[in-house]
Amino acid sequence: MTQKFKLDNLINGDQREPFRIDEHVTIEKGAGDMSDKNYEEGYLADAIRFKMRRDNKRFWAGDNVSDYVTEDIKHKLIDEATEAFELVLDRLLIDRDTDPNSKGTARRLAKMYFNEIMAGRYEPAPDATAFPNDSADRYEGMLVVRSELRSMCSHHHQPVSGVAYIGIIAAEKLIGLSKYTRIAQWCARRGTLQEELANDIAREIEKATGAKDLGVHIQATHGCCENRGIMSHSSLTQTTVLKGSFKEDPGAKKEFFDNIKLQQEFAPR
Ligand SMILES: [Zn+2]
Repeated sequence: MTQKFKLDNLINGDQREPFRIDEHVTIEKGAGDMSDKNYEEGYLADAIRFKMRRDNKRFWAGDNVSDYVTEDIKHKLIDEATEAFELVLDRLLIDRDTDPNSKGTARRLAKMYFNEIMAGRYEPAPDATAFPNDSADRYEGMLVVRSELRSMCSHHHQPVSGVAYIGIIAAEKLIGLSKYTRIAQWCARRGTLQEELANDIAREIEKATGAKDLGVHIQATHGCCENRGIMSHSSLTQTTVLKGSFKEDPGAKKEFFDNIKLQQEFAPR
């Protein structure tokens, strides 16, 4: 499946304009001058990667690229990824034609990557409406939320499964309790490294709440250690990011980890 794009729009268009699907045009065979330099045959994914490079937009496995991917574009990208996964299955010598279990696997994989295990790359940040926390009896204590995480390591595309404990000392804004987990999952549903994931969650929670005093502690198991390599079924990785008083005040730090222990008593990992 090949598509044709009007590259001058991609190259010279307004950089702040989101990429639109109508920027590419299909030329019927024999219609028009196919040697026209403005037109080039290719994949939509290649055109979008070109545009992101031009914009100096990083698109690593853990980066969000939702500014470049509308719903329509996502459907086209799923078609293109299906074609690519078909090729991978062919190269693995798996019979897609007669094996009934492998027939639709390429499309299932493509849809799973875009809509599930890497959905956090293609979806914009969850809407986290903030409520003012500025009345006379405002909450000034520590708040610790336990968020279940499913992620995928960007090295092996193996599942990462665990829990993030997110602690903040309430600032001027409060967000709904479920939003902490929505934000954490939005960060996690990408190709990640656990060390970076903790940083990403901390940064996004800071953005949403305005809190400067916060901590994120992640405990997770990694498919790449369990299913391959060292085949270790009991290995657990812990990462911690501390900011503001969580880092500087031993009392706040202890309170955060005491809260995590209480959480673990309530719901063992
Ligand atoms: Zn890995």
